[in-house]
Amino acid sequence: MPIRALSETVINQIAAGEVIERPASVVKELVENALDAGASRIEVATAGGGLGLIRVIDDGGGIPADELPLAVSRHCTSKLSDDIHDIRSLGFRGEALPSIGSVARLSLRSRTATGDAGAEVTVDGGRTGPVKPVAANPGTTVEVRDLFFATPARLKFMKSERSETAAITDVVKRVALAFPAVRFTLSGSDRTTLELAAVPADGEGLLRRMGQVLGQAFSENALAIDAEREGIGLTGYASIPSFTRGNALHQFAYVNGRPVRDKLIAGAIRGAYMDVLPRDRHAVTALFLSLDPALVDVNVHPAKADVRFRDPGLVRGLIIGAIRQALEGAGMRASTSGAA
Ligand code: ADP
Ligand code: MG
Repeated sequence: MPIRALSETVINQIAAGEVIERPASVVKELVENALDAGASRIEVATAGGGLGLIRVIDDGGGIPADELPLAVSRHCTSKLSDDIHDIRSLGFRGEALPSIGSVARLSLRSRTATGDAGAEVTVDGGRTGPVKPVAANPGTTVEVRDLFFATPARLKFMKSERSETAAITDVVKRVALAFPAVRFTLSGSDRTTLELAAVPADGEGLLRRMGQVLGQAFSENALAIDAEREGIGLTGYASIPSFTRGNALHQFAYVNGRPVRDKLIAGAIRGAYMDVLPRDRHAVTALFLSLDPALVDVNVHPAKADVRFRDPGLVRGLIIGAIRQALEGAGMRASTSGAA
């Protein structure tokens, strides 16, 4: 066969293979878009574990009607200019909406604060329809139906409705922790499963949001973390050694507000508690790193949950030092000697 360019739909489906692993990935991308748009209320509704329907409604800035076709086009974004080293938004790759549209039936309805009417565009298995005027409140509503209908091989790998729903709940909680001032609701087919009222965007508000997400018991057994080293800030909470879990699933980490899963951070947490926890127990933590975007690479994987730090040793030392200091301050460690 001669060499030729792939069709736009196939290119998007290949990208979707990495960006959209399961229904929870769709929820993550859509909620991140709502947050990037400055929303103060985000409603997520799902049916069939997200395979039947995912709907995300926000009250953010909206998209002008004439930009709707761009919003669902590959590599089109309003967030990144020309500097990949200065990423301040959750999104920047311009591929979530086209990817979703290539494997599902997507509808994007939006109205800006100044627009006097709403408009809608749909993408059905990669085919983009015309922009149509619709009635809409300011903000954006995205509906995704029949996820993976266009890629049956991926559809086969979905777990039970229950476990997909659990993954969606986890994604919403994880993101919501970093945005206490935003109201989040999550509902399944028949009922609301999560309702997080907006709280102030300060330390006090964060503690309340953590109570909402991780349970009141965590806020009562958490030590405040607040440290800084060479321009890198670390805030958040870490549980006292008597408040632990059997796995590390309750360790939440954020870099500049972005939820990340990072081995370096996980290892640093383990190191910090090494002397006070048995190997099979895990602390509950919510840690927020803030640093110059140029000092961290978030463009490691399309799903944007992996990061690489310019100076990993510095970050590790900061986390270990700050947690040990908090433990010691609360009289829970004999000494900080040997801290990394
Ligand atoms: P990215 O988030 O990387 O820019 P997406 O494919 O997720 O790429 O979105 C494409 C563009 O569509 C965004 O850059 C943004 O301009 C617009 N957009 C998507 N979702 C929303 C939303 N909920 N509110 C406002 N604009 C949105
Ligand atoms: Mg996005």
